[in-house]
Amino acid sequence: MQYTLPMSYFEKFKLLAPIDQALDALQFKKPTPIQEKAIPAILKGTDVIGNAQTGTGKTAAFCIPTLTTLLNQPTKTALILVPTRELAIQIEKFWIELSQFCTAVTCVTLVGGVPMDTQLKKMKKNPRLIIATPGRLVDHLQLENFDLKTVAVLILDEADRMLDMGFSAQLNEILRLLPHKRQTLLFSATWDGAVSSLAKKFLSNQMVRITVGEVSQAASSVGQILVNTNESGKRDLLLEEINAERGSILVFTGTQVRTESVANYLEEYGVAVNRLHGGRTQGQRSTALKQFREGKIKVLVATDVAARGIDVSDIAHVINFDLPQIAEDYVHRIGRTGRAGSSGRATSFLTEQDLKRWNEIVELLKKTGSPVPKPTTKKRARAANIEDVESEMVQVQPKSKKPTRSHPQNRRENLWEKGSVKVKPAEEQRIKPKTQR
Ligand code: AMP
Repeated sequence: MQYTLPMSYFEKFKLLAPIDQALDALQFKKPTPIQEKAIPAILKGTDVIGNAQTGTGKTAAFCIPTLTTLLNQPTKTALILVPTRELAIQIEKFWIELSQFCTAVTCVTLVGGVPMDTQLKKMKKNPRLIIATPGRLVDHLQLENFDLKTVAVLILDEADRMLDMGFSAQLNEILRLLPHKRQTLLFSATWDGAVSSLAKKFLSNQMVRITVGEVSQAASSVGQILVNTNESGKRDLLLEEINAERGSILVFTGTQVRTESVANYLEEYGVAVNRLHGGRTQGQRSTALKQFREGKIKVLVATDVAARGIDVSDIAHVINFDLPQIAEDYVHRIGRTGRAGSSGRATSFLTEQDLKRWNEIVELLKKTGSPVPKPTTKKRARAANIEDVESEMVQVQPKSKKPTRSHPQNRRENLWEKGSVKVKPAEEQRIKPKTQR
């Protein structure tokens, strides 16, 4: 019997050899659903709207055909607009991997928090791809540091978030300076009137719209848990969740101040933690992400905006210490775990004050056919993957004054054994948690 080697699933796209080689090196064997639909459409030169939630492989869906265009048209460039520095860096990282077997298809990121001069020097080397936040790009354009005349492909990534962040005016300014003849790709996890009118402005009428799953649908690979608590019970609950989890944990809070205070609190208990929010410098944010990606810290506490571009594929657990203000953000947050088909857990703390917000989230989850978690107790949350599961909804008791078996004080030896405590237990005697002072 004669055997033939199985054809790579990407082969059917007839990509250029250096791209096939890179996909091989990246071990991308099979296109994700968004890649399956978007790559052939983009390769044809059509304008494309991609409605895909985060973690679906959308970066590769637009980078693969864009790199093809740039290799085929050596005088042309591409521009990717993104809402945050982190997302820009994440895309740059992927681009470098994807273009590792091609020469001269370099890219530059133009984001806030980095000196304009440094960026200008990089622009003088004629990069073929610019990845920029709208604000910083407009700063450069107003100074006439360069123009956008060679742009053949424009990508608006996370367009919904760019509008949420108030970049509408900058986007219009950039549009004015772009060549009319170009291909435009718009990716958005959510769809509403504002995104629709942005699409009308930027894309041609012949565009193709691709939807993967329901817009804003929560990834089915994420197990959602909702824990009833009150404001003063949240910190103890958080420590319990952290203690029960072996993998990495991303904790979302509502504001920069709360991010700092929760991270400081965890530090007092010796948890290896860092924080990510808009008030930190670019260097601090990059360090925090690097530590998290490399597993040097177990917990990253973050705000929504800062967490937008986190591409850490093996986050085991997302914890909503505070529920998000916008229902859509719930889906974005929990999409940080369970990425590219792996399973993950998302635990949300629910207080009485959150009920209105939670109802909006439930409405969205129902509308999109996503599973809706039922409120439960902290006992159930911890026992979710063990056997003892309570079925009825019970209010969590106010924090006990006496240390219990689950109290963090009693767990520090264990944490030390697991290697997640930085200081030795003996030295810890001096570090009293705030609640004990
Ligand atoms: P994204 O939605 O672009 O942020 O991608 C989510 C994650 O999936 C990233 O870590 C990608 O590297 C990974 N990924 C994307 N496409 C594929 C693929 N075809 N096979 C395996 N992993 C992929």
